[in-house]
Amino acid sequence: MDPDRLLDDLNDAQRAAVTSTAAPLCIIAGAGSGKTRVLTRRIGHRVATGDADPRHVLALTFTRKAAGELGKRLRALGMRDTVAAGTFHSVAYAQLRARWTERDVRPPELLDRKVRFVAGLVPRDVKAVDVVGEIEWATARRIGPGTYVHEASLANRTPPVPAKVVASVFERYEEAKRQRRMIDFDDLLRLCIRDLADPEVAAAQRWRFRHLFVDEFQDVNPLQFDLLKGWLGDRPDLCVVGDPNQAIYAWNGADAGYLTDFERWFPGSGQVELSENYRSSPQILAVANAVLSPSRPKSSPLRANRPEGPAPTIVKYANDDSEAKGIARAVRDAHSPGSRWSSQAVLVRTNAQTALVGEALRSAGIPHRVRGGTGLLEQAEVRTALANLRRHPGTYTAAIADLAASIGDGEPATDDEAEVPTDQSDAVAERRASLEMLVRLAHDYERIDPIPSVSSFAGWLSATVGSDSPDRDAVDVTTFHAAKGLEWPIVHLGGLEHGLVPIGHAKTAGALAEERRLFYVAVTRAEQRLRCTWAETRTFGQRTMNREASPYLEQVEAAASMAVLAGEGPSDWKAFLRHEREKLATTDPRSPRTGRRGRRGAPAGLDPDDTEIFEALKRWRATKAKAAGVPAYVVFSDATLVAVAGARPSNRSQLRSLPGIGPVKIERHGDELLAVVAEHAS
Ligand code: ATP
Ligand code: MG
Repeated sequence: MDPDRLLDDLNDAQRAAVTSTAAPLCIIAGAGSGKTRVLTRRIGHRVATGDADPRHVLALTFTRKAAGELGKRLRALGMRDTVAAGTFHSVAYAQLRARWTERDVRPPELLDRKVRFVAGLVPRDVKAVDVVGEIEWATARRIGPGTYVHEASLANRTPPVPAKVVASVFERYEEAKRQRRMIDFDDLLRLCIRDLADPEVAAAQRWRFRHLFVDEFQDVNPLQFDLLKGWLGDRPDLCVVGDPNQAIYAWNGADAGYLTDFERWFPGSGQVELSENYRSSPQILAVANAVLSPSRPKSSPLRANRPEGPAPTIVKYANDDSEAKGIARAVRDAHSPGSRWSSQAVLVRTNAQTALVGEALRSAGIPHRVRGGTGLLEQAEVRTALANLRRHPGTYTAAIADLAASIGDGEPATDDEAEVPTDQSDAVAERRASLEMLVRLAHDYERIDPIPSVSSFAGWLSATVGSDSPDRDAVDVTTFHAAKGLEWPIVHLGGLEHGLVPIGHAKTAGALAEERRLFYVAVTRAEQRLRCTWAETRTFGQRTMNREASPYLEQVEAAASMAVLAGEGPSDWKAFLRHEREKLATTDPRSPRTGRRGRRGAPAGLDPDDTEIFEALKRWRATKAKAAGVPAYVVFSDATLVAVAGARPSNRSQLRSLPGIGPVKIERHGDELLAVVAEHAS
């Protein structure tokens, strides 16, 4: 490919990032600014200019889904066949597999039901899942059972189980694994790091992967970072991209400091920033920026480049069931003939919520894919195909080629075939899609294991693919966490309630900040339409509880109602205010005002006549903000107070028509605000 063509549709900063000769290189930028695009283009560009050999490129990320997205984009650049793209775990597993095969070592058994295993080790009154969470955090931070208690207290951690209990279960867990010759997922990384201390292993691995790229680097943890350093050796050929405002795995041991302090870890490295957003409409971006604003974001707001779209909406339901049904209806309404179901996603905070939404979509007859639903490996034809592969007398490559041939000679169903509708009831197509996915993964595997075999492929599959289902046209139902890095034209966010968003167990300032970033991740997945919902009651097991709107919805609502206006400059404000004043001028028709400037230092759009009422509103706002412990602009922005001062609304519906004020704000502050206006209006 002509290298220059890879630069054509990039902006200047992106082009600089793609062509920069700095090494290592760190690219920091907000959501939807083209980080993943730049990463894949940089790979393509280096390959096209002969600066990198695609067979020696390794593109890393954290989740299977994100790796799939990376692979998809590399494929679109015509490169997938040679470039290895995978998760830390999948690449580590392939490295270990190769070594076991080479040395004729029987591979240890991979422990994929950790919670069940730990359940046999915990005291009766302790939940295994709570301890597992702590063990995972500790392992990610490279902390062992012996130092867990000390380190957990240093890190200000409040484990759900006394730290001493965690430490003793942790110790027993490590011992039980050793005795039974089992390893867990994190052991894959630990074993790799250990192996890399052997110069021969290190040399072979570094020979294989010379050009390293990491997406979503804000979520790297110390264990992964050490492995990355092992793979890199003392070479500088590393490029990472990330967004500190999307760091959502600190609870699990990740450390965004590797990204933000990249220069400290890699002295002499280069850094590029990107500031344009290419994913979302200005309306959605305004909401995203507002969601982040109270958290002292680690970068300046992004600028929008996409066409205008509808303002994001917030809908309240009576209960969780009707919310799920309402989401299903909205999904159907948004599905126009000829559009793809996969252009929509329903995102929720917890895994448990996905089941409810999935069920509602199922009864509405809407094809969907719930993470953790029926997976590839549970499908009968996939199991049969794997069994046949094992019995195949030839080489791995020959076995896979035979499998591919057996599927039929039609065109493979790649992602590029976006226009071909898939009828969910068409079992043949479904079966074919699964087998094609299997073949595709088999080729993926061939690229990371130099001595591939069917049995190591099967092991790798269950370790990495788990229950992900194949690519078919379906609505994605997934958690906020699992949606990271992905994008959809239409996004439905469900269960936006106190206790879920932010999650109830987030108590510390750090945990709450992470929840806010997580919500930012969720909002920034949307390209054209964003629909937010919540329910007034929700049932957990036997208990039905009353719910309140998520506090983040206040910012969504404020920004969304402002975003109804095209653009957001003060000049638009003036026009808007004039319009609103005329609309509201019922009893006391105030002469339509021209856009006179207020006194020096006054906010844009404030008429001198409104100064007094504006100041009164600000005083009221200050007391509210103080009481709630939030910055004043979280209660209402200056622009909103200017609008209130100018329009002098006398009832809730007049309030409602003002920018920055929607039902959530009205519920919370409406009456007091009207009282302040009434007092100062005369
Ligand atoms: P996230 O932080 O969510 O991972 P990101 O920074 O990786 O986002 P991308 O996914 O690479 O962003 O880009 C967002 C969208 O914008 C993609 O659809 C991408 O193809 C598109 N895009 C990026 N840069 C440009 C550009 N210069 N011109 C047109 N479209 C672009
Ligand atoms: Mg990305």
